[in-house]
This record gives sequence, structure tokens and C-alpha cells, in this order.
Amino acid sequence: MGLTNSQYDSIMRTYSERQSENHRIQMQRREEIASRIPEIKELDDAIVSLSMEHAMSVLEKDKPATSLSTLRQEILALSIRKKNLFLQNGYPENYLDPVYSCPDCKDTGYVDGERCHCFRQAVTQLLYSRSNAKNIHQNENFHTFSLDFYSRDFTDASTSKSSYEHMQNVLRIAKKYVEEFQQEGAIRNLLFYGNTGLGKTFLSNCIANELIKNCYSVISLSAIELFQIFSKSEFDKDSAQSELAAEITECDLLIIDDLGMELSNAFTNSKLFYCINDRILKDKSTIISTNLAVNNIQERYSERIFSRIMHSYKAIKFFGNDIRLSAFCSSRLT
Ligand SMILES: [Zn+2]
Repeated sequence: MGLTNSQYDSIMRTYSERQSENHRIQMQRREEIASRIPEIKELDDAIVSLSMEHAMSVLEKDKPATSLSTLRQEILALSIRKKNLFLQNGYPENYLDPVYSCPDCKDTGYVDGERCHCFRQAVTQLLYSRSNAKNIHQNENFHTFSLDFYSRDFTDASTSKSSYEHMQNVLRIAKKYVEEFQQEGAIRNLLFYGNTGLGKTFLSNCIANELIKNCYSVISLSAIELFQIFSKSEFDKDSAQSELAAEITECDLLIIDDLGMELSNAFTNSKLFYCINDRILKDKSTIISTNLAVNNIQERYSERIFSRIMHSYKAIKFFGNDIRLSAFCSSRLT
């Protein structure tokens, strides 16, 4: 989708501010290390002069191979001493490396001439912050997700697993989903289904917040909001909603919450198919959560929507007691 010149300039300005800030942090770290571990500078100087000696030796054709390998070993030994000094003083060994907010594009916004995922995130934030569709609660993350609300006694008849054991596994899947996000062969799409109050939205937010931290663009909408945006974009020719509709098909992760709560008709069915199918073709990730059972999805939506979801999504069932009720009771007891 197209950005206006001023939008583009504003995003590029944030990159240049980020570069300056990270450069300042790196310089500050150098000064800190120079005063706290002065031996590091001496080792660095020694490594530089040995490296130069090594480079000169390579140019001298008749230099014996043994002296080259001795030089290499000496450089390696100094590097190991340097690394140990950092660790002994409680610093990571790469403490003086350049600092980047996004290591993938080194804060330039581009990788091999293509826009980096962090650039996409900046575009999404720009458009998304102008809409009122901001549903990702920052306090819902993997640190605040508690398995304690899931019962060890409530058992699923088909698997004989308790709600607690089952959610342990679901949590593992969710964390792996984030770790392997967009890697080749990794899970792209998730379908969370089950009754209300079992943590589907909370877990979607955990995933969203973790990916936003890693500079990915994420949009989270209820199904009702999603179809409102498509409708305003198509029938009212609302340009802000059209930009957002385009971003809905382009963002790295789209979360459609509460599918099934919308009024279903030919328009919503066709838009849902378009949205799901387009994102599958573009290899973009989507998470759908719904209170509908799998067979109800088939009944409510068209066969082609159902078949896309069944083929391209990992379906995860949520079951147990309403955890909002457990949370309420535990807060009353404390
Ligand atoms: Zn980047």
C-alpha cells in the first residue's frame, strides 16, 4: 500500500533518531568499559597490531605457514582472554558490539532493498493508532499468563487430559509459535476454539505483545470490527478505513477475535474468505478465536472457508471452567 511522502519521511526520521540514540548508547558503553576494565583496551590494541602483522604476513608469499598459524592462535588466545574479562566482570561478551533496535535491518528499515518487518510495523502503528481498533492489552503477556486458573480435575473425555495439562501444552505451542514466527515450515495460522472465558483472547494477546516487541506488525480486531472496516472501506469509500483494510491483508499477524459474533451474510462470508485466503497465499500469519465448535464453523460459513481453515490452521481446543470466574474468586479470597 502507498504511504504519503510525509508519512514516509516521518517513519524514516524515527529510524535516524533510533540510529543516533543507539550510537550514543554504544559510545557510553565504551567509556564505561574503558574506566571499569582498562585491560580490554590493551587487549584490543594487541589484537589490532597482531591482525595487521597477520595481514602483512599473508602478502609475503615465502612466509612459512607455521608462523601464520601461530599468529592466528595468538589472536584467538587474546580474544578468549577478552571474552573472559567481560564475563568475569558481569558483562555479556558482545557488550561493545553495535547496538541495534532491529538487528535484521540494522535500523535502516531495509534488507536487500526490501522493507524490513520493522518498517511494516511502523506503517501499521501509524495507521492503527489513527483507528479506534486497539485491542491488544499490554498487561496480557506470557509473564502474566497463569496456568493456575486451569483445573486439574476438569478432564476432557476424548483425551483424558485435565484442563491444566492441556493448557500447559497449548502454552508451549504458543511460545514455539512466537519463537519460530515466519520461519520456513513453522505453523503460520492458529484456530482457538471453545467456550468463552477460557483464555483464548488472553493467549492471542500474549503472542501479539511478544511479536510487537520483536518489531512485527500485528493487528487485532473483533470479527465485528473487521467487517465494519471492510464495509466502510467498500461502501462508504472511507479512505482511512481503506488504508486499514489494505493493512489488514498485509500485516505480519492478523488476529480475528470472536469469530461468529458478527451478523453473518453474503458480504461477511465473501470478505472472510477473501481475507483468509489472501493471507494464506501471501504466507501471512493469522490467529482466529471463536466460541463456535468446529462443526458449527462448517455450518455457519461456506464450505470453502471451512476447508481453508481446516487445511491451513492448527486447531486448538480450549476447555475447562470459566477462568474469569476463578480469577474473580481468587481475588475475593486474597
Ligand atoms: Zn528491521
